[in-house]
Amino acid sequence: MADLLTFTPQGMYCPAAGVHIDPWRGVEKAIITHAHSDHARGGSKNYLAHPITKKLMHARIDPELNIETLSPGSTQTINGVRFSFHPAGHIPGSVQVRVEHQGEVWVASGDYKRQTDGISGGFEPVRCNTFITECTFGLPIYRWKEPADVFAEINAWWRGNASQGICSIISAYSLGKAQRVLNGIDTTIGPVLVHGAVANMNTVLQESGLQLPPWELVDKDTPKERFRQALVITPGSAIGTPWTNKMRPYSSAMASGWMQLRGRRRRGNMEKGFVLSDHADWDGLLRTVKETGAERIIATHGYTDLFSQYLRSVGYDAHVEQTEFTGDSGEEAAAPATVAERPI
Ligand SMILES: [Zn+2]
Ligand SMILES: [Zn+2]
Repeated sequence: MADLLTFTPQGMYCPAAGVHIDPWRGVEKAIITHAHSDHARGGSKNYLAHPITKKLMHARIDPELNIETLSPGSTQTINGVRFSFHPAGHIPGSVQVRVEHQGEVWVASGDYKRQTDGISGGFEPVRCNTFITECTFGLPIYRWKEPADVFAEINAWWRGNASQGICSIISAYSLGKAQRVLNGIDTTIGPVLVHGAVANMNTVLQESGLQLPPWELVDKDTPKERFRQALVITPGSAIGTPWTNKMRPYSSAMASGWMQLRGRRRRGNMEKGFVLSDHADWDGLLRTVKETGAERIIATHGYTDLFSQYLRSVGYDAHVEQTEFTGDSGEEAAAPATVAERPI
């Protein structure tokens, strides 16, 4: 039997249905796993996406995109192929795509994590014959701490700064990580101020029904004193630009899975690094592969060669498919250059 999903120059493709999943070029019909820009791109005629992803794509790409919605729990049949969405736990609206045709089931994971974050829905393992998995952090050195412990570290850093009148600035990608930080911190320590890019995403998500603690937009009228006890959440690119001038004195930090690798070089100019990832760690990937019951595994972006090699060594039929999911500047899917240089 022909493969249910194949890899083409446009991206992942289901020939039986004539549908692409997360294509990186314009196609007739695209199913989208989540709204990060390496997965959700413009230029296609029709889209099928989670209702939250639809709102995010309209805000981030183009309000005119023609997007039909599918919620987890419902199915849509195209040319006899059944498609359904299952929570991926990566960011709000993120899903895995289950594809079923003539008794065979494939699942394309998109990006996922196993830790619950209170905003993205809990990951649901889906039984399948073939599992297409990301493996951004598919090396045994990547093992995440409990999120509660990481948030205790972030709170302690913020509280310490606030007690000295030092502003705390944390770098977090505007969609997903920023809201996760906002949702996880102790907002009794001080006010939470955000960059415009984060504010835009917060607003779209709140309009989609997501509950978030109070936050304020940093603008030109924000008084200097407001920053003394504040936590500022911003994309990293704004730190050290004129935008952060009136926040001085400040301490800067970054929340990312890449912070697992110690050393200042990993953090760029940041003073602190907190290990907080929206991707599965090594144990999370292996546990997921096992729970799907799949006999065949296809590894896509990340440490694909090493991860699939390991899976073959423990008896899986594991393959690699190259994708163009490179992550945009701020998303943690894109490994900092210093990480790529590291011998592994
Ligand atoms: Zn993503
Ligand atoms: Zn990705």
